[in-house]
Amino acid sequence: MILSLCHRKLPTLDASLRKQTTIARRAAVSGFGLWSGRDITLTFCPAPASSGVVFVRTDLPGKPRIEAVVRNRVNGPRRTTLVANGAAVEMVEHVLAALAGLQIDNCEVHVNRAEMPGCDGSSGAFVDALLGVDVVMLDALRPVIRVQREIVVGEGDSWIKAEPIGHGMELEYQLSYECPAIGSQVFSSIISPLTFQNQIADARTFVLQHEADQLQKQGLGKHVTYQDIIVFDDHGPIDNPLRYSDECARHKMLDMVGDFSLAGADLIGKFTGSRSGHRLNSQMVFALLQQIVEHKPKPIRISA
Ligand SMILES: [Zn+2]
Repeated sequence: MILSLCHRKLPTLDASLRKQTTIARRAAVSGFGLWSGRDITLTFCPAPASSGVVFVRTDLPGKPRIEAVVRNRVNGPRRTTLVANGAAVEMVEHVLAALAGLQIDNCEVHVNRAEMPGCDGSSGAFVDALLGVDVVMLDALRPVIRVQREIVVGEGDSWIKAEPIGHGMELEYQLSYECPAIGSQVFSSIISPLTFQNQIADARTFVLQHEADQLQKQGLGKHVTYQDIIVFDDHGPIDNPLRYSDECARHKMLDMVGDFSLAGADLIGKFTGSRSGHRLNSQMVFALLQQIVEHKPKPIRISA
């Protein structure tokens, strides 16, 4: 017979002391997509233990389901897109960051368009909606992926490093832009629902003016004004005061929280990102999942 001891000896994927959660009732957010300009309503719905975060395209025949896991991610510029069952959801990272940052593990996210509401370019509106409903503990433990050894993804001056630590998730983002109004920024935080809410959730996305011009030439974001998104010229943000002097670095950390949640587990480790973005965030998640495969004990064969 085959006796698997994996459940006792897994060094990397173990159960934390934290119970899984969901929300007690529905919560909705409406707005327009920053890229498409289309109006969309997103509804967070309760979901059972171990179902994770699943997007449901209620506007499409058969209401296709798209699990928020890294294997469903497709490469695309400047945003995180997930594809499964013939349907896509785009710009999901700020929605995922709100759920992960508040430690809401199981949630069906019903949407009637592909692109999520952009709101103010941060996770603030999603966090506010989720804070308006009670969180329910479920009868299952949240899995954990513990960083076992140093892992680096990326090359040159654009990389993410993971290092083992005793407990919790510590993030650092090192940002460096040639645009003098942004310059170099470093932001670090030990991630918890409180620190996410108070330091990260309302940090907004940003673009450089020449990037914004380029995007609008491509027909994207035509309806977006300087009040909807932070646009930097060499002197600073145009007609839109910053919430923090290091808001850009904080927003990059917000993206990390959202993208890392595609691992489907709490992460224990210190992660440092330098000039990194969505592509490297997903590479790190793949590397962490690979680490589990490498460390997984082989089933032991016992003769009867
Ligand atoms: Zn973002």
